[in-house]
Amino acid sequence: ARRVELRHLSARYGALTAVQDVSMTIEPRSVTAFIGPSGCGKSTMLRAMNRMLEVIPNARVEGRVLLDGTNIYGRMVDPVRVRRTVGMVYQQPNPFPTMSIRDNVLAGVHLTNRRLGRAEADTVVETCLRGTNLWEEVRERLDEPATGLSGGQQRRLCIARAVAVEPEVLLLDEPCSALDPISTQTIEELIGRLREDRTVVIVTHNMRQAARVSERTAFFSTDGPGTPGRLVEYDDTA
Ligand code: ADP
Ligand code: ADP
Repeated sequence: ARRVELRHLSARYGALTAVQDVSMTIEPRSVTAFIGPSGCGKSTMLRAMNRMLEVIPNARVEGRVLLDGTNIYGRMVDPVRVRRTVGMVYQQPNPFPTMSIRDNVLAGVHLTNRRLGRAEADTVVETCLRGTNLWEEVRERLDEPATGLSGGQQRRLCIARAVAVEPEVLLLDEPCSALDPISTQTIEELIGRLREDRTVVIVTHNMRQAARVSERTAFFSTDGPGTPGRLVEYDDTA
């Protein structure tokens, strides 16, 4: 589990400042909820926290993100390693369309160069799909393409894929939007188990969900469209 410290973090897309001067400390073995209106920079913050923002051509980050004290933007740091350590599930589910359901769960694990035997791989697939309430729905069709799944199933598959890598920090961008109540409950339970040895950040629009799953809530806001998002309330000391 890792402590994440944001120090004067700002992010821009070309001339647009999406996030301005955010400083906060996220304690390990905790769940922190990011709440705020659409467009206030929550997704941008998550992408800055695992260096995914760098793959967007016009995006720029200023400030530091410390993982257990080490700046992930340091000159000696390998961005690929950062993305393994800090996993992220996007708001839009994005399974690899030509890959089977099974291979989607294992895709991230294979990228980490961890070698899995067939039996171990089967265990990872079943455990991660059970953890996201997907196992019973897909166990008979693990070798079928992921594109045959519904939107909600694809979202749960992407969460399973991220969890399978066992990241030390997991960033979840609205993981339960458009999920049915049973799946939402399963994902909330999964988050509860993850916090035991990891650091979790969840973007949510649901205050009740934030209260159920998180110890701390960070409120973000903007002064309107085109103006930068900023952190307006966060209790670091809770
Ligand atoms: P939130 O997740 O809080 O809804 P976002 O981080 O998605 O906010 O967006 C913050 C601001 O940055 C918005 O004004 C949005 O339109 C803009 N934005 C997000 N992604 C991009 C991008 N790839 N290129 C340009 N502007 C972007
Ligand atoms: P959110 O609800 O988190 O803001 P969106 O649905 O607005 O997410 O954005 C979905 C995708 O579109 C994201 O990858 C984001 O980077 C991109 N995006 C958002 N706003 C813009 C923008 N103004 N220009 C280009 N891309 C954008």
